[in-house]
Amino acid sequence: MKVGVIGGGIGGLYVTLKIIKYSDVELFEEHNVVGYPKHCTGLISEKVLNLIGNGIRDYVLNRFNMYTLIHDLRPNKHLELKFSSYVYLIDRPKVEERLSDEVQDRGGVIHLGMKVTSVDPSEALIIVNDSLRRNYDIVVNAEGAKAHISRTYNLCSEVNYLLGLQAVIKCRNELDHPYVIFGSDVSREFFSWLVPIDDDHVIAGLADSSRDLYPKLMYVVRKYLIRRYWSGPTSFKEFFGGLIPMSTPCRQVVERLVGVGDAVSMTKPLSGGGIYAIAHQARMLEESFRGTSTIDEIIRRYERRVLKLITNLKLQHILRKLLTMKFNSMSDFVGYVIDSGVNSITLADYDTYVVDVSRINDIFKLIKMLLLSII
Ligand SMILES: Cc1cc2nc3c(=O)[nH]c(=O)nc-3n(C[C@H](O)[C@H](O)[C@H](O)COP(=O)(O)OP(=O)(O)OC[C@H]3O[C@@H](n4cnc5c(N)ncnc54)[C@H](O)[C@@H]3O)c2cc1C
Repeated sequence: MKVGVIGGGIGGLYVTLKIIKYSDVELFEEHNVVGYPKHCTGLISEKVLNLIGNGIRDYVLNRFNMYTLIHDLRPNKHLELKFSSYVYLIDRPKVEERLSDEVQDRGGVIHLGMKVTSVDPSEALIIVNDSLRRNYDIVVNAEGAKAHISRTYNLCSEVNYLLGLQAVIKCRNELDHPYVIFGSDVSREFFSWLVPIDDDHVIAGLADSSRDLYPKLMYVVRKYLIRRYWSGPTSFKEFFGGLIPMSTPCRQVVERLVGVGDAVSMTKPLSGGGIYAIAHQARMLEESFRGTSTIDEIIRRYERRVLKLITNLKLQHILRKLLTMKFNSMSDFVGYVIDSGVNSITLADYDTYVVDVSRINDIFKLIKMLLLSII
């Protein structure tokens, strides 16, 4: 079986690694390095860390078992979001370098500086740099959020995006877990975040649909990081960011073209995280290749397997929609929860937002609060 993979981000690289045992894989990355441009914070659940495997444990920068949620208009209150298992901060560029090395050690071929310019999904044919034709049995599209190929070849119709901007700030870090800041002055559609990397560095980030991210990010950094948690010298080491797809998942397969990750809008709509879906899509593709000999069978098996993941993400979209219909925005919802006296919620699962049933107090308070909001 011959597979062509478009994109050397975490999606393309990890899928390649998972299916390399069962096929000859060639990956095409338009830049001269993998994982470029850097855009991700790198927060993943323990389950995803375990799924991706041992190699990436070397690139864990920090881990947390709670977040503090703040609302900009409620300065003296907050909500603790606790997790029954750790959330890990990974060094994304290093993870991609590691995956790339592993792919090549196992005989996979990575072509850098080669852009896939068109695809024929019925023939699994790709054209690279407008001239080089390559035929495969299956093509995996992991081109990321811009989804140009996905939109051209009917995996996705229209995709909505948020813009995310982040900065690594050097300061003496006083935070021991992430702070998530809500409020319409911060972000109308999403939120801002402060994530401690180590004793001397913090990531400050913000996502929204508006374009004026920079002044808003500076507002958060000044108000929360500098005034509230650290008044000493700070310096900005780097800025980075990118697009976060916010549409419901696209079609996963068109003929012999299979979409993975941001290319088919597989992000969690409540947090913007995309590595969760990629880890599962790669595992499902591997399972579909294992013991299967025909292209059709692999594709049908994959389509069946991925349905559960799609349903899960679609439910999260419905939840987000219901909350924004009822409360106007996620910020107003968080403000409402804070106002109603719930000060702590424990989640059993960071990816599917399941409330930990052993924390019965949280649940009673939460249910009461939601019932009151409906009445
Ligand atoms: C601000 C921000 C913060 C985030 N934080 C988190 C987080 O904490 N946790 C989390 O799980 N997710 C997070 N995400 C989302 C996460 O970064 C993405 O879901 C993930 O990077 C998607 O991986 P991917 O491989 O699908 O796409 P990408 O990582 O974008 O990789 C796509 C690759 O394809 C290449 N490419 C594109 N077109 C072509 C072509 N035609 N030919 C050849 N190569 C091509 C690109 O150069 C790129 O290298 C965040 C995103 C943003 C923007």
